[in-house]
Amino acid sequence: MIEVKNLTVAYQGKEALSNIHLTVRKGAITGIIGPNGAGKSTLLKGMIGLVPKNKGETTFEEKEIASVRKNIAYVEQRNEIDLSFPIKVEDVVLLGTFPKLGLFRRPKAAERQKVIESLKKVKMEDFAKRQIGELSGGQLQRVFIARALIQEADIILLDEPFVGIDMKSEQVIIDLLKELKMQGKTILIVHHDLSKVTDYFDDVIILNRYLVGCGPLDSTFTTENIQLAYGETMGNVLIKGVNSQ
Ligand code: ADP
Ligand code: MG
Repeated sequence: MIEVKNLTVAYQGKEALSNIHLTVRKGAITGIIGPNGAGKSTLLKGMIGLVPKNKGETTFEEKEIASVRKNIAYVEQRNEIDLSFPIKVEDVVLLGTFPKLGLFRRPKAAERQKVIESLKKVKMEDFAKRQIGELSGGQLQRVFIARALIQEADIILLDEPFVGIDMKSEQVIIDLLKELKMQGKTILIVHHDLSKVTDYFDDVIILNRYLVGCGPLDSTFTTENIQLAYGETMGNVLIKGVNSQ
């Protein structure tokens, strides 16, 4: 179980997240939803210490999360990645072995073999030698998922993995995530398309700078909470979209 206790993050003195208290179930897929600027990305970063927090702490199985950092795979939102950097697909995936390997041990044949296996799982093995700049959005996202897989982490954090990708890639990724869940991994996904929430997630965290709700879909993904997070008018439009699926 992940526990976030009293987390507050501010940028230049302005609070992006205030006093967030929540728990994330182990072995479940949890979606993080909320309007633009709600602090969804900040929540992931604040949890694992990628942004300085003003106060609060995050624990995994009662240990401070910093002490299990190697056990967390994080795929950032795509607009935060420099795609002009010349690097091959296989080398991006290989980066995922570094947290456990340590900085000074060179990857060997075993790691290279794992790269191929991870690429196979996302159906990207034929692209190993390509430059990342040559891939479509969906292919690229699958490569980042392969990088997360090779890390063999118990906690997987993904920030908007389905934005701007094709349906095949989305299906490959979601099938894989469901398989990882069956293996007991804890998966957190920032997501903004409410129409897929009931298909993809067991639990949701609903945010709008503060915590609107957190828990299983039945009790948390409610009209009331969506209106609280998105405002009444927008909330109604979004709920119609969900119910007409
Ligand atoms: P979301 O992912 O829900 O769209 P973010 O967590 O990215 O929201 O951002 C929450 C708020 O914090 C927004 O108002 C955003 O402009 C601000 N913010 C995010 N990152 C930074 C940063 N590095 N510096 C200053 N403000 C930021
Ligand atoms: Mg974001």
